[in-house]
Amino acid sequence: MKVARFSDHAMIVVLGGGPAGRIAAMHLAHSGKEVLLAERGVIGGQCLNFGCMVVCALNDAARVVRNARDLQGLGVIDRAPEINYPGLIREMQEVQKKIAGILDSDTRSTGVEIKYGTEAVLHGNEVRLGNEVLRPDAVIAATGSFPAIPDIAGIPMDGVYNPHTLAQMDRLPGKMVILGGGVMAAEFAYIFSSFGCDVTLVARSDVLKVLDDRQRAIALQELEGVTVHSGTSLLAVNGDRHLGSVSVRTPDASQTEIECDALFIATGLSPRSENLHGIAKGPGGEVLVDSHMETSIKGVYAAGDVTGPPYLTPVARHEGIVAAENILGRVTTMDYQFFPQSVNLASEHAFCNPPAGGTVSVSLPGPAGPGTFWKVPYNATGLSKVSVDPETGLLQGVSTSGPGAGIITSYIAFLMQKGYTADDFSSFLEVHPETDGVHGLLTYLSDYLKRKNSG
Ligand SMILES: Cc1cc2nc3c(=O)[nH]c(=O)nc-3n(C[C@H](O)[C@H](O)[C@H](O)COP(=O)(O)OP(=O)(O)OC[C@H]3O[C@@H](n4cnc5c(N)ncnc54)[C@H](O)[C@@H]3O)c2cc1C
Repeated sequence: MKVARFSDHAMIVVLGGGPAGRIAAMHLAHSGKEVLLAERGVIGGQCLNFGCMVVCALNDAARVVRNARDLQGLGVIDRAPEINYPGLIREMQEVQKKIAGILDSDTRSTGVEIKYGTEAVLHGNEVRLGNEVLRPDAVIAATGSFPAIPDIAGIPMDGVYNPHTLAQMDRLPGKMVILGGGVMAAEFAYIFSSFGCDVTLVARSDVLKVLDDRQRAIALQELEGVTVHSGTSLLAVNGDRHLGSVSVRTPDASQTEIECDALFIATGLSPRSENLHGIAKGPGGEVLVDSHMETSIKGVYAAGDVTGPPYLTPVARHEGIVAAENILGRVTTMDYQFFPQSVNLASEHAFCNPPAGGTVSVSLPGPAGPGTFWKVPYNATGLSKVSVDPETGLLQGVSTSGPGAGIITSYIAFLMQKGYTADDFSSFLEVHPETDGVHGLLTYLSDYLKRKNSG
């Protein structure tokens, strides 16, 4: 076995080329470090290959079909298009390859060396890459996560998919069961129901609990056409060589069979840490880190999904930066208080509601504008809600559903983190027409609090 030492060059090894590992590697290389990035598969991690970008590809197409159907319903257009599913998957994969090429060359352009195709194994502060043993000055383990698959009789079986195997589904199923009640399950339910599949969502508890009541009601309206069984658990998948049905237990404890030709498992993610040895882990396999993203071994850091929830790309990237900064000797801590999130259905449902007491909240339906004008007849222009501290006016929460909700919420979350108040928005000027209700609510709150606190 070859033992390589890099101490002359302050060599850093990063395990995993997903959002956390890639950003960390580039950040270190920008600062002059010699960095080796080991990726066993394709650069970009789940975000590019199985997650966020897949949802974007499919959701963009789903919205075209849904919006066209809505316009047809109003007599604005004559015909709505149909999805060419094999074409959609083929072209999505072409775009993914193109993005992977860009990520690869961007990463290399900073000086990072990328080694593909080998499963890296960590033993304490030593990294094994095939026959090579590396003793780097620092390590970042960013090996991500994988779909959590429930231990159910009959899985795996033809016709049962998860986000990592979805591209193997070569045609649209007539009847599809989606297992899960979270963001991922709801997003795929919207997509496949828009594509014309008869979708049943089977969720152990309530669907989209992550949203507050009013935003959730709007999101559930967008799942119109999807049969939702909440409080229901999957017992078995049934079929001969190919899936034919699933057996479920309903809230009244009775057992029912749901006929289907595809089951999509969207029950969340689990940390991928089976190749990380000698560092402390939690009960779910998540690598335990301190606020600097350092593991139980000095000089060995971990970032991204492998450290456990929240499983979000921006959080993974930021953890990667925090780990890199600490390796560079600049003491930095990770703050999880203000991360925005979104659920993408017919519209974006974004929110950032850090826990805080003593809030006053106001809400308002979304205005008509670009992307919502033709939603007016359907009473589906969305909603915005803002919460502030009644004494100080400090921003304490935002939820907004409508076009650009993700972008609006990202900036508001940042302003919340910086300690902005409703009053800071009193001179806000927007582009018109646009569909953001948040700034209107904040200027209203600014006036309201001034009146309330002066009298
Ligand atoms: C269906 C779905 C939808 C999602 N939608 C969103 C969304 O809308 N917004 C959002 O913010 N997040 C979303 N996510 C979550 C997001 O994809 C992850 O949080 C993000 O990819 C985590 O980045 P990471 O770098 O920690 O891990 P990963 O993306 O999992 O990357 C880890 C990388 O490490 C590699 N690797 C693993 N083990 C080894 C090893 N031993 N040696 C070498 N390489 C290894 C893997 O091949 C992989 O490339 C979604 C996820 C899924 C599955």
